[in-house]
Amino acid sequence: MVDALAVESCSRCNASAVIHQAYSGQHLCDRHLASSIRKRTSKELRQQLRLPKDARHEDGSLYRILVAISGGKDSAVLLTLMHDILGRRRDVELISGCIDEGIDGYRAPSLECARQLAESLDVRFETLSYEEMGYERMDEVVTRMPAMGENHDEANGMMPCSYCGVFRRQGLNALAQKVNADVMALGHNLDDMAQSILMNLQNGEIDRSVRLAPHTEAPIDGIAPRIVPLRWIPEQEIHAHAICQSLPMYHGDCPHAPGAMRQQSRGIIADMESITPGARHGLLHSLDEIRRLHREANQGSRSEVNNCTECGEITSREVCQACTMKQWLAETA
Ligand SMILES: [Zn+2]
Ligand SMILES: [Zn+2]
Repeated sequence: MVDALAVESCSRCNASAVIHQAYSGQHLCDRHLASSIRKRTSKELRQQLRLPKDARHEDGSLYRILVAISGGKDSAVLLTLMHDILGRRRDVELISGCIDEGIDGYRAPSLECARQLAESLDVRFETLSYEEMGYERMDEVVTRMPAMGENHDEANGMMPCSYCGVFRRQGLNALAQKVNADVMALGHNLDDMAQSILMNLQNGEIDRSVRLAPHTEAPIDGIAPRIVPLRWIPEQEIHAHAICQSLPMYHGDCPHAPGAMRQQSRGIIADMESITPGARHGLLHSLDEIRRLHREANQGSRSEVNNCTECGEITSREVCQACTMKQWLAETA
């Protein structure tokens, strides 16, 4: 039995370890953790984003990648890695963007972390708020939720994260359009992916899992495809790496998150992983296989997409969820 308090040394050198990968049996020091994360991320990035030697457009303009940052550890690690891997390319421009949800005590400090990080890397930084998009601040949305639930069955029992997720998605698309991004990179880690896959399975929504990023294999017209270069990196490793690198990051949690389904899923995935190390990787491998089978089975048949009659965004409904929610908000003003 290994004493939990004893500091293990790195499996690759003599330095003390900062992380234990139960799924691989390895202990890694900060330096070897950093090189391991960089290697896995750049391999995944190459697979999700096949850039030609010169990625510039025909008119000579640069290939633009919008990196969505939140001030948290995941997107901080994502931006520094993307900058490290692609920063020297003259044909590619990285732009960072942060969505301001309007959550008091949470967004102001995290936005500052995001801005600091972008400035330290000399990466252009853009923000967009829910108010600028024509929604309300999240703090206001939350106070109107009971009224919206009374007015509409569909809104009944919805959690703040349901609104926030829809608005943020719309906001990121708007930011991508504003900066003319060719692709958008998101900081989802392995735990995020495993949680989403599990939640979609629980809800019987395989098609939602199939539509999870990366989208570069099956892009949808008019929307910057999303890539998720960190999707194989466990949250704990990203956290340890961000601390070792002293990246500016905000540690606070969103005050509206408690009660969300993701919180339960987080606990279940953590338990699964501790009982069966490698379970998260297994879930994501399963999804990739399901996605492959799904694509094979649906070859040639275009998935059914409409344009929202209100805003023109791509949706499976007549009026997209964002516009529907905007309507609910207007009714309760
Ligand atoms: Zn080492
Ligand atoms: Zn719409």
